[in-house]
Formats: sequence, C-alpha cells, structure tokens
Amino acid sequence: MPDMNRQVLFASRPQGSVTEGNFRIVDTPMPAPGEGEVLVKNQWLSLDPYMRGRMNDAKSYAPAARIGEVMVGQTVGEVVASRDPAFRPGDKVRAPLGWQLYGVAEARHLTAIDVALAPASYYLGLLGMPGITAWFGLHETGRPRPGETLVVSAASGAVGSVVGQLAKIEGCRVVGIAGGRAKCDYVVQELGFDACVDHKAGNLAQDLRNACPKGVDVNFENVGGPILDAVLAIMNPFSRVVVCGLIAEYEATEPYGYKQLRSVLVNRIRIQGMIVSDWKDRHGEAVAGLSAYLGEGRLKYRESIVEGLDNAPRGFIALLKGENFGKQLVRLA
Ligand code: NDP
Repeated sequence: MPDMNRQVLFASRPQGSVTEGNFRIVDTPMPAPGEGEVLVKNQWLSLDPYMRGRMNDAKSYAPAARIGEVMVGQTVGEVVASRDPAFRPGDKVRAPLGWQLYGVAEARHLTAIDVALAPASYYLGLLGMPGITAWFGLHETGRPRPGETLVVSAASGAVGSVVGQLAKIEGCRVVGIAGGRAKCDYVVQELGFDACVDHKAGNLAQDLRNACPKGVDVNFENVGGPILDAVLAIMNPFSRVVVCGLIAEYEATEPYGYKQLRSVLVNRIRIQGMIVSDWKDRHGEAVAGLSAYLGEGRLKYRESIVEGLDNAPRGFIALLKGENFGKQLVRLA
C-alpha cells in the first residue's frame, strides 16, 4: 500500500457553472483506521447531479459541502484494513468516502456488495442510489397503471433509463425525452421504450404531442425548465408529476419561470417531489427487485466512464452539461 493518498477537495463555491477551479487536488498521508473503522481502497467513484446542490450554501434536504473538505460522494472499493469485526480485508463495499483514492469510514456506514450478482460499479447506479430512486419514485410516487402513458426526461441516464424500463414492465406506453439522436436511438432500440423525443431537435412541443397521442398520465421529471413546461401542457386530467430532479436549473443563477401552471389547475394534476432517502429503511426491497429483473435480463444499463481521480472534476462538469451517456463514473483503480 502506498504511503500517500490522493484527494479532490472542494475549494470554492461556484457562481453559476462549475469550473475546475472549484476543486483542488492534494496528496495527503495515508489514513489509518481507528477502533470500529475500516480503510477502503476506492475502485469506483460515482458522479451525480446532486453534488452540484451540495456546492451551494443553501438550505436543502442535505447539508452543504464544506470548503476545504474532500468532495462528497459514494464509492465502491475493497477493504484493505479493518478494525471492526463486520469487515475483513478483501471485502467489497460501498462507502460514502468521496473523491479520494483511499478513505476511512466507520463500519456502520459501509454496505457489503455482492460482486457475484453484478459488477461492483453497478452498486453506484442500477443497484445503487439512482436505481433505488427510480424504483420508489415510479412505484410509490408515480404509481403508473397498465395502459397509461408515462414520460421520463433524461431518459438515457442513470435514473431515467431505469424508470422507463420499469414502467414498460408495469405495462405503460413509455416515451423518453433525451438530448440528441444517439441517446434517443439507444432509448428506443436498446431499452425498449415506445418512443423518444430529442429535446435538441428544436420541435419539442409538437414532437411530444406526436409521441403521446393520448396525452400523458405520469411525468417522471428529471430535468425541469422548458422540458417540464412542454410536458405539463399535454398532461391528462388527474395525472401525476414525480419531481425527481431539475438538472436544467442546477447551474442557473435565476429560477426558471414556469408557464403551464394553468394545466395543473384545469387537469387537477398531482405534483409531488421525492428524495430517495424518504425510503431509506426500504432500500433493500428496491435492490432485491432490481437485481431480480437484472438477473432475468429485463433491465439494461449503460455507464459513462472517466479514467482517474484527477479527471473527476472534468467528468463532473461534463455531467452537468449533459455530456454523459449513461451512469457517470470515475474509475479509480
Ligand atoms: P443522468 O445520468 O440522467 O445525467 C444527467 C442528464 O440530464 C444529462 O445526461 C442530460 O441528458 C440531462 N439534461 C437535460 N437537460 C439538461 C441541462 N439543461 N443541463 C444538463 N443536463 C441536462 O443523471 P441522473 O440519472 O443521476 O439524475 C437524473 C436526475 O435525477 C437529476 O435531476 C438528479 O438530480 C435527479 N436525482 C434525484 C434523486 C432524488 O432522490 N430525488 C436521486 C438521484 C437523482 P440529455 O442529454 O438526454 O438531456
């Protein structure tokens, strides 16, 4: 094991778009686990849109990241030293260790992962936070019924791709919204959605109407802004909107002004936000369901991989610009 660790620190709060200058890369002495703690060598780092929210000093469902600390994030890796009986060297785990090559965590914060069931990286995506978000957001908040039309934005991404495939399993007509032809082709041809609208093609409202001839019963919203407005305009009476994410707004300095609230009134639409931690005591249920579908070959999944910790800031900036194609990860080892 090397003497030194490498970390990406949160250096400054962005004003608008994130830049590489908001991060600082440092080499620090290798940490040692204390009583009840475990030292993990991280193999994969997850990059997620929520990290942008943590960079703001604003009230939210989770505390803001602190300047000078290791950037927050989930990792998967291998235990290299343990001072807790629950873990042994060689064990594969998921941990909240952030943007660094090695890290120490209390054993109670680690989750053992089964790499015989799925590759380790899947526990940050399909079988991790994004997959669990899709599971509960769809089943508990969206509650789709067979034959209904469901629209999901960021459809090729970590959450959206799972939402759409689960909604197909539930018997819905599923329409994705994604940026560019390649993502739309993937969503229809590989993931099996019924249609996908390219929001970059310049004809969003009409293309959506064409793809949803019976209107929309459930909108799983990952993006917000003009995309949410366009879907609201064609929603059916007593339809539901699951507000999972508003990535189009995360880097904006002013909130977007929504124009279609009238549709909420006349159609009696139920709009409900959701945060994956609302079901924190039931995550195992989602992982069991997702693993079963994965094992049966009913869920497909794609990753977008950046190589090396030093490239994590670049990968994160690309994610916030929508340049990822599938779950965004950094390979650390
Ligand atoms: P994705 O893998 O979907 O990546 C983000 C995607 O957003 C991009 O690839 C891009 O896809 C799309 N996008 C659309 N418009 C924009 C825009 N203006 N700027 C940047 N990207 C845009 O990410 P995740 O699946 O991890 O997350 C999807 C959403 O779910 C996010 O809003 C996230 O915050 C939210 N989320 C919420 C959780 C919760 O508990 N509520 C938990 C996890 C995620 P395209 O090119 O196709 O438009």
